[in-house]
Amino acid sequence: MGNNFKEEVLSRRTFAIISHPDAGKTTLTEKLLLFGGAIRDAGTVKAKKTGKFATSDWMEIEKQRGISVTSSVMQFDYNDFRVNILDTPGHQDFSEDTYRTLMAVDSAVMIIDSAKGIEEQTLKLFKVCRMRGIPIFTFINKLDRQGKAPLELLAELEEVLGIESYPMNWPIGMGKEFLGIYDRYYNRIEQFRVNEEDRFIPLNSDGEIEGEHPLKASGLYDQTLEEIMLLNEAGNDFSPEKVADGKITPVFFGSALTTFGVQTFLETYLQFAPAPMARNSSIGEINPLAEQFSGFVFKIQANMNPAHRDRIAFVRICSGKFERGMTVNIPRLGKQIKLSQSTSFMAEERNTVDEAVSGDIIGLYDTGTYQIGDTITAGKDNFQFERLPQFTPELFVRVSAKNVMKQKSFYKGIQQLVQEGAIQLYKTVKTDDYLLGAVGQLQFEVFEHRMRNEYNAEVLMERIGSKIGRWIEGDVVDENLSSSRSLLVKDRFDHYVFLFENDFALRWFQEKNPDVKLYNPMDQD
Ligand code: GDP
Repeated sequence: MGNNFKEEVLSRRTFAIISHPDAGKTTLTEKLLLFGGAIRDAGTVKAKKTGKFATSDWMEIEKQRGISVTSSVMQFDYNDFRVNILDTPGHQDFSEDTYRTLMAVDSAVMIIDSAKGIEEQTLKLFKVCRMRGIPIFTFINKLDRQGKAPLELLAELEEVLGIESYPMNWPIGMGKEFLGIYDRYYNRIEQFRVNEEDRFIPLNSDGEIEGEHPLKASGLYDQTLEEIMLLNEAGNDFSPEKVADGKITPVFFGSALTTFGVQTFLETYLQFAPAPMARNSSIGEINPLAEQFSGFVFKIQANMNPAHRDRIAFVRICSGKFERGMTVNIPRLGKQIKLSQSTSFMAEERNTVDEAVSGDIIGLYDTGTYQIGDTITAGKDNFQFERLPQFTPELFVRVSAKNVMKQKSFYKGIQQLVQEGAIQLYKTVKTDDYLLGAVGQLQFEVFEHRMRNEYNAEVLMERIGSKIGRWIEGDVVDENLSSSRSLLVKDRFDHYVFLFENDFALRWFQEKNPDVKLYNPMDQD
C-alpha cells in the first residue's frame, strides 16, 4: 500500500444529509447523484421513496415503505473525490439507526426549508452531530418560493441551534422575484433561470458588477449589496478551522428542485468537508491512513422475509483497505471470520465489492454474528472502537409474552435483539415490568416482527406513550420517588432513569428534588 492508498483515502468524503421531512433531502440527493453520474434520470431516488421502484429484496417493511438497502448508502465520483452519502431515514422510518448513521460520517449537510426554518427532526439530528463535533454545512432550500427573510434564518441558526454561521452566498430576492445568488466565496453572481452562458457574472474587487448590466436596474441588486455590506461588517468571519471543529456552519442558499445553487454548493462543500477522520479506540486514535484494516458496525438491517433470515451489517471502514475474502477479528467474540460475502452500495444497484478503503461503507452478510458497535480488525492488535452513545428514547411500550408457555423464547429474543441494538430495554424498579424504549415507532414494529419470525414469540405491547427520559448522576436514588408521572426504571446497564410524563412533570420533579441530579446523555458535548 503506497501513495495510491493514501490518495484513495484522502479522496473520500462521507456524509449524511440531515433534515426534517419535506425539506428537500430526496431532491437534493438526486441532483447530487445526477452530477456524479451515478443515476441517469431524475426521479430514481424519488421513485424508490414512493415504492414504484421496488427492487429491494431485503426487508418486507422496507418494500412496503419503498425504501431499500441500496438507497441507504450512495456512492459516486465527482472531480477527484469519491463521495459516500449515507441516508438518514426520517418520518415513520425514524429510528436509532438514523442517529447511528451519524456516527459513521465525517460531516453532515443540513437542509432547511426556507419557509419553515428549523424544524423538530433537524434539531434532533443536529444535536447528535454536535455531540460528535463534526462539521455541518447548511443548504437553505426552496428559494424559488417565498420564504423567511435570510437574516431571520441566520438568526434562527444561532438562537435555536446555537451555531455560528457564515453565508457563502446570499439570495437576490426570492420566490417570484428570485434573481439568483450573490456568491461571496467565488466573488460572482449566479443568475437564476437564464441561459447557461449568462449564468455567472464576475464581480470586481469592490464586490460589484462592473459596467452596465440589466440586473443593476433591479432594486433587489442594491438591496443585496447593502445586505452583503452588513454581513461583511457585522457578520462572522469565515474560518476553515472553525468549520472543521463544527463551531461555524457555512450556509448556502439555493433551490434543489430547479437545480439552482446545487453545483456551487457541491464543489465548495467538497473543498471544505473533511476526508476520513481518526477515531478513538481502546489503544488511542486510529489513523485512517494506517495500513491495518479496521472498522465498526453501525447498523444491522434484518431481512423481514422469514424465508431469508440473512441480515446485512453495515460497516464503516476506519483504517486500511478491505479486500474480499480477508480474515478479520471480532474482539468482542475473540473470533476470526473470513469476509467472503460483502457488498458495496451504488445508487441503482447493489454490487459485490472487492476493495474499499477508510471512509467507505461495506455491507457484510450476517447470520447473527454481529452486534451494533462491534469492532472488526484485520491486524494483531485487538482493540475496540469507542462505544456508540446511548440515544435517549422518547417512545415506550410495556412488553410481555402473549403465550405464557413461550416465556423462554420471549426472554431469549428480547435479550438478543436488545444486545444487537434493535431496541432498548428498561425495567421498572418496583415491579420488574419490561419496558421497551425507542426513538421511532418503526423500532417497535421491527421488534414485534422479528420476535414472531426469528424467535417464534408473539408479544403484547401496551403503549405507555412518549416520555422524557433522564438519567441520574451518581446512581443513588430513593426508589420511593417513583410515581406514575415520574416513573423510575433501570436501563440494561442497571443505571437509574426517570421517565417523565412531560416537561411540566420534569420541572416539577426538579423543583421538589433539587438533590437528584438529572441529565440527558444526548445533551452532553
Ligand atoms: P424530503 O422529504 O426531505 O426527502 O423532501 P423531498 O425532496 O421529497 O421534497 C419535498 C417536496 O418539496 C417535494 O414536493 C419537492 O418537489 C419539493 N421541493 C424540493 N426542493 C424544492 C425546491 O427547491 N423548490 C420547491 N419549490 N420545491 C422543492
